[in-house]
Order: sequence, then structure tokens, then C-alpha cells
Amino acid sequence: MSHNTYNPFIHAQQQFDHVAQTLELDDGMKDLLRSPMKEIHFSIPVKMDDGTTRVFKGFRMKHNEALGPAKGGLRFHPHESADTVRALSMWMTWKCAVVGLPLGGGKGGVICDPQTLSLGEQERICRGFIRQMHQLLGPNTDVPAPDVMTNGQHMIWMLDEYETITGGHYPGMITGKPVNLGGSQGRTEATGYGVIYTLEALLAKKKLNIKETTASIQGFGNVAQYAAELYTQLGGKVVAISCWHQKDQKSYTILHPEGLNIAALVNIKDKFGSIDLDKAKALGYEITNGEAWLYQEVDILIPAALENQITAESVPQLSSKVKIICEGANGPTAHEADALLFEKGITFIPDFLCNAGGVTCSYFEQIQGNTNFYWEKDEVLTKLNLMMVNAFERVYALAEEKNIDMRDAAYTIAIQRVKDAVQLRGWA
Ligand code: NAD
Repeated sequence: MSHNTYNPFIHAQQQFDHVAQTLELDDGMKDLLRSPMKEIHFSIPVKMDDGTTRVFKGFRMKHNEALGPAKGGLRFHPHESADTVRALSMWMTWKCAVVGLPLGGGKGGVICDPQTLSLGEQERICRGFIRQMHQLLGPNTDVPAPDVMTNGQHMIWMLDEYETITGGHYPGMITGKPVNLGGSQGRTEATGYGVIYTLEALLAKKKLNIKETTASIQGFGNVAQYAAELYTQLGGKVVAISCWHQKDQKSYTILHPEGLNIAALVNIKDKFGSIDLDKAKALGYEITNGEAWLYQEVDILIPAALENQITAESVPQLSSKVKIICEGANGPTAHEADALLFEKGITFIPDFLCNAGGVTCSYFEQIQGNTNFYWEKDEVLTKLNLMMVNAFERVYALAEEKNIDMRDAAYTIAIQRVKDAVQLRGWA
């Protein structure tokens, strides 16, 4: 499947159908759970700096709210599509359910390229988004968060517009806020650290010492950077990192068999997670093509950038050394690749478990906002570790018991929880 024809919604439905057939769901339940229950499409008119008006297309999809208010990020991306948002909202439902959060699944986006927009234009898009959506958002209704190319500043503009319209303070209506305005300590690190918390738990099962392992990572953005940071702090060695270069419109892999110095790379990356190649060369690192990260002789692969990177074509070419894949990104492994990885004896921690640290910390942010009492970073990370490891243990135990891969086990637990909530509510 080439990247151009890749459709994440079909991917999400294939994964769901694959597990649904083993759970003996009736047809009504299957129909309900394989698509978002609510889809909102709207236009955001924005006065641009040059005086013209441009209309941006926005979406918010709520896949399922049986377990609680919809929760999920907002992406600003020039190639955003309704099907991507549908898939991501569905994955959010399973992600919240597998960790045991009292939240449903949602996702949203605006088709725009923030890299070409002024801050003022971005602010007007954020405020316009809320003007279109405010009746369907709220701390007990639907709670957005940052995602690709959105950040805490975007969230605060949205919160401010929401509070201006509703006339109160509702810090729990949005998460990913800056720490000095209702954000949670540890949120920035939460997804990347969560990836490594689940990795540590898996290494313990496999009786592998993290200090004797090597890893290769795709991406150096929010997820990848903090995953790399904690993994190396714990003694692991990152030998390759791949990232995107805006200037060349191309991806590259930065290599160093002795192990990359993550702190040094953080100093030479921009806010979009692109590493300066000249400065990387000056550190003595080799630069090669963007796909090389996948074919390194390492114990662990951490795809933490894009969807559909590990495919039926690439699995046979992976190094025989690879034992573990931690899916930091959403949907990095094509559906057809799962069975091939399982046959090869490669254990993958599925995305909606592996990268659930972000939403778990967002849930903590909501609790802190709702109680108006804020926790220390250590407390946040300790609670995060506990929830991630507990979720991992349940999924791992089921995978072992049924001799299935961890994705099918995680889906089984998540679908079962959502199905029970739907039935208790009498929806189906
Ligand atoms: P980000 O925008 O901070 O970083 C993206 C990274 O991917 C950058 O380093 C960029 O250079 C790299 N990249 C882009 N195209 C590439 C290519 N062709 N080859 C190699 N590298 C490429 O994004 P992020 O927040 O780190 O999110 C990454 C993934 O993780 C996405 O799938 C996102 O949905 C998922 N995710 C993020 C969070 C979160 O809390 N940030 C939570 C759950 C899941």
C-alpha cells in the first residue's frame, strides 16, 4: 500500500473488524462501533493579515461517548482529511478504554498550514473554531487537546474564546494548556515517557536489560524526543533518528553506532522536530536517507512520526535483531504487517496503548482543573507510570493467555469495555 493510497479510516476499521469477529458482537453493535457516532464539518472564515478573507475547513468527530465525554486532539495540517480525523477519533475511543479512563473518543482538525500563517491568523482560526463548535464542547461534553502542529498557545486562545462566549471559567474544557495557566506538570513529556514506561514493562517480561539494548526512532517531535530522552536516561542507546526537513521537503536519518547524544540533538532541532543536518554532521554523525531508520540492526524500533511506516513489504527487510516495536505514532503499522511481525516473533506494543500517556496526563489535567488543585511533577509521573503499566499488564496477560498479538489483546479489552458501556446505557 503506497502512502498516497493509505486511508487511516480503512486501517482503523480493518483492525476493528478483525477483532470484532472474535468477540461475537451482533451486527448492530458492530455498525455502531466501526464509525464515529457524530461528525461535525464546518467552515471558519478568517480575516487574513492582508485584509482578505480565507475560509478554512474544520472537523470534529466524536466516535463514541459511552464511557464519558469525547477526548482527543486537534490537528492543524494542510493535508488534513475527514477520514484521518474519523480514524483518529476511533483510536481515541480504544485508547481511553484500554487505559480505563472515563472518557470517550474524539478528534478534530483544521485544514491549514500553521508554518505559513502569522500568529494573529492562527489565533483567529482558533477563535473561529470555537465560535463554530462551542455548543458541542465543554468539560463534561467534549474536551480537545493539542496534536500535530497545535500547542498550548492554540489551546489557550480556544479556552479564552470559549470562556468569553459562556461567561465563566472552565479550565477542564481543553487540555494541553501551558503549566502557568491550568496545564499539568509532565504533560509535555507524558506521551514519550509513557512509550518508555510500557517498553520497560515489556523488557522485564522478556528479561532484557535496557542498558544492553539499542533503538532506532522515526521522528524527533514531542513524542520521539521525550521517548529518546527517558530511554537514554535509563541506559539504552539510540543509534538512529529520522526526521523531516522542511527546506528540502525530504526526510533524513541521523546515525551514530556509538549512540546519539539526545541532549545535543535537542539543542540543534527546531520547534517542528527537524534536526539541523550541518550541526549534526559537526557532531560527527552520519546522515543518510529517511527510510534507513527502519532497517537498522537494533533491538527496538520506535516509530514516532507517521502512520503506515511498517508495511507488509518492509517487515521481511527488518533486521533479525529487532525484537520489539513501540508504536509511539498513531497507526505506524499497516494492518497486513501485524501477522507478519507476530510470525517473526517481534512483539509490538500497539499505538493506542503505547502512546496513551498523553491522554492519561490530559485526564489528570482535567482532574486538577476541576478540583482547582495542582500536583507536583513527580506525582503526575508516578500516577502516569502506574496507569500505563497496569494497562500494559492486562493487555500482555491476555495476549499470552490467548496466544495473540498485543494489538488484538488491547482491542479485545477496549472493545469489550465500550460494548459493556453501550449495553448498560441501552443504546444497543
Ligand atoms: P510533532 O509534530 O511534534 O513531530 C513530528 C516529527 O515527525 C518531527 O520530528 C518530524 O520531523 C517527523 N517527521 C515528519 N515527517 C517525517 C518523515 N517523512 N520521516 C521522518 N520523520 C518525519 O508530532 P508528535 O506530537 O511527536 O506526534 C507524532 C505522532 O505521535 C503522531 O502520529 C501523533 O498523532 C502521535 N501522538 C502524539 C501524541 C502527543 O501527545 N504529542 C499523543 C499520542 C499520539
